[in-house]
Amino acid sequence: MPSPQRFAALQQIQRRRPAATAPAAPFGELWASDVFTLETMKEALPGRIFKSIQRTIREGGKLDLSLANAVADAMKTWATGRGALYYAHVFYPLTNSTAEKHDGFISPKSDGRVITEFTGKLLVQGEPDGSSFPNGGIRSTFEARGYTAWDITSPAYLMQTPNGVTLCIPTVFVSWTGEALDKKTPLLRSNAAMNRQAQRLLRLLGETDVAPVNSSCGAEQEYFLVDSAFISLRPDLLLAGRTLFGAPPAKGQQFDDHYFGAIPERVQVFMQDVERQLYRLGVPAKTRHNEVAPGQFEIAPFHEAANVATDHQQLTMTVLKATAKKHGFACLLHEKPFAGINGSGKHVNWSIGNATQGNLLDPGQTPHDNLQFLLFCAAVIRGVHSYGPLLRAVIATAGNDHRLGANEAPPAIISMYLGSQLEDVFNQIREGNLQSSAKGGVMTLGVDTLPEFTKDPGDRNRTSPFAFTGNRFEFRAVGSNQSVAGPLVAMNTVLADSIGWMADQLESQLNAGMALSEAAFHVLQQVMREHGAVVFGGDGYSSEWHRLAVEERGLENLRTCADALPVLQRQEVRELFERQGVLSPVELESRFEVYSEQYVLAIEVEAKLALQIARTQIYPAAVRYLGELGQALQEQQAMGLHPNLKLRNQLGELLEQLNNGCDALEEALSGGSHGEGADHTEAHMRHCADTLMPLIGVLRSAVDGLEGLVDDDLWPLPSYREMLFVR
Ligand code: ADP
Ligand code: MG
Repeated sequence: MPSPQRFAALQQIQRRRPAATAPAAPFGELWASDVFTLETMKEALPGRIFKSIQRTIREGGKLDLSLANAVADAMKTWATGRGALYYAHVFYPLTNSTAEKHDGFISPKSDGRVITEFTGKLLVQGEPDGSSFPNGGIRSTFEARGYTAWDITSPAYLMQTPNGVTLCIPTVFVSWTGEALDKKTPLLRSNAAMNRQAQRLLRLLGETDVAPVNSSCGAEQEYFLVDSAFISLRPDLLLAGRTLFGAPPAKGQQFDDHYFGAIPERVQVFMQDVERQLYRLGVPAKTRHNEVAPGQFEIAPFHEAANVATDHQQLTMTVLKATAKKHGFACLLHEKPFAGINGSGKHVNWSIGNATQGNLLDPGQTPHDNLQFLLFCAAVIRGVHSYGPLLRAVIATAGNDHRLGANEAPPAIISMYLGSQLEDVFNQIREGNLQSSAKGGVMTLGVDTLPEFTKDPGDRNRTSPFAFTGNRFEFRAVGSNQSVAGPLVAMNTVLADSIGWMADQLESQLNAGMALSEAAFHVLQQVMREHGAVVFGGDGYSSEWHRLAVEERGLENLRTCADALPVLQRQEVRELFERQGVLSPVELESRFEVYSEQYVLAIEVEAKLALQIARTQIYPAAVRYLGELGQALQEQQAMGLHPNLKLRNQLGELLEQLNNGCDALEEALSGGSHGEGADHTEAHMRHCADTLMPLIGVLRSAVDGLEGLVDDDLWPLPSYREMLFVR
């Protein structure tokens, strides 16, 4: 019999029925019905104005205020006509979350009338309080100004709640002095940098008609659903997003019976609600399925331009969480809500391409495309090898440490999987002996003799953090709770840098009179000789790889945030971002400060919570049981029986371990200062990683041991079995 609180929760769940939402509407009516699309704009605006807007979207640049006035007016008419009374500038601070500044359209006049008003200026610029968001020292509270500015490349949309509608405008968020306080600004800059360099390379390859090159992203989102009746009994899930305690259930995921199994009805009803809302918002949700762990699911969209995909990914997380509540669930986006059970990631599928050359990471069928493909692919290889630690740093969060540093996919070592066919081609290039093209013994990159690629490289390597998957790369090490902006910024920037290097090489060799194919081959060969060490097709989980990667290949194994985040302070990383015009040294430093602080805060909250739960919930339950047990044993003795004392002794030992664990954690938490400045930040992170985390683990083993002994009647926390299997 579970404890009374847990029993009540179970009863509540039994009574739940799949919640019917609005009746299903045909796709045509749903799709983007809440989006201020280009089509809507075209209908509402004079042709001349619409054309300039279109050009600004395509080519970037500043929006003229007279144009902005016309757009604002059309937007207001559209939104208020659908019931919106407020508009919100939506922005993406450094916290991985989405922030909104809401204002009413209402504008009282001096003659007592009240009208609605929305000008171009209100559309393109807002002013939330910059100091309330983490800024890593860029802004101090006394000069708190931060500005939001409309990102014209990401469409405005309506957010619906049961009580009305809000017009949402995606914006960048910058300081008074122009520094980026958000995740969108560097993403836009990184895309521009990548475009600049890709243009150069494509022109060197002889292309004359080259449309702007854009990065694309399709992010698969894994998540857990747990009934909300359990959540209110789990302070750890409520505040830290993960269980700090919990013994493994008798049945876990060993049967592999959840993956792609039938989706439970209540969950499917939830998913359909989510998808319908996403369709209204113009988010192209495309796949849904059960994931590996019980209670774990996935949603993935069709890919879009990286900037829009990023906004849509944030929206997806928001909609998932809000909709879960409506259906009596909590949607857990944490990377590791349950120890010993598969964690959640966000696979960021990424490529680059444009309207004239198509997907530049598509090997294609024709040899000519192959040369182009091989160069762009080699640029990725060079980038990932040169800046692997940076790619590790941008996925460093307290939650993701549980996946990356631990014995779970993918490892904290950034290597790259190409698939056997492509790996073979690049190995031949490295050896200077491209078999398939070595006709007549001339070692040039005979553009007409390159191998044809089979489109789908059949095999997949699930243990690689960064894998080529046919026509794109999949960054599989990103955390489920993270904004995809950081990883995309890093990938675009390292790629821009590599392409730029390649273009430099080619330029000088072409100027020296070398033929294009030969020059290209030299560049490819140099990349493979210097950076081929990052390519690895074997088992990324094996301890052999961990040794080999570090000792023989010279790759870094950065296990925790405390190891990975300081990479943001390295000279070569600072220079990379500055050279590509993506982040100034001040902006980069501020990111190091903010992310480090978030890590420290997360671990300290977990430590405090663990202490509190252990002392106020677990200890009382355990001593109560010890008392009952002691009495029973006495009675047995009085009856002349020979009671087994083993259980009592075990209980006593675990209680002692619990008490000692609490004392040690308390002392470590009160452990004074960690010095000054960046050194201080690093020391504080080390304290979290090396002292607090292991102590939380010690406490956990005592509590989980007790869970296996104490009367179920007295145990206050819903068990793993209940949370993972009851719905
Ligand atoms: P899997 O689980 O096999 O990796 P999914 O179908 O779940 O595959 O997800 C693949 C993701 O990759 C989708 O979001 C898809 O839109 C995206 N994708 C496909 N092509 C590209 C591309 N060129 N650029 C970015 N993302 C892409
Ligand atoms: Mg995938």
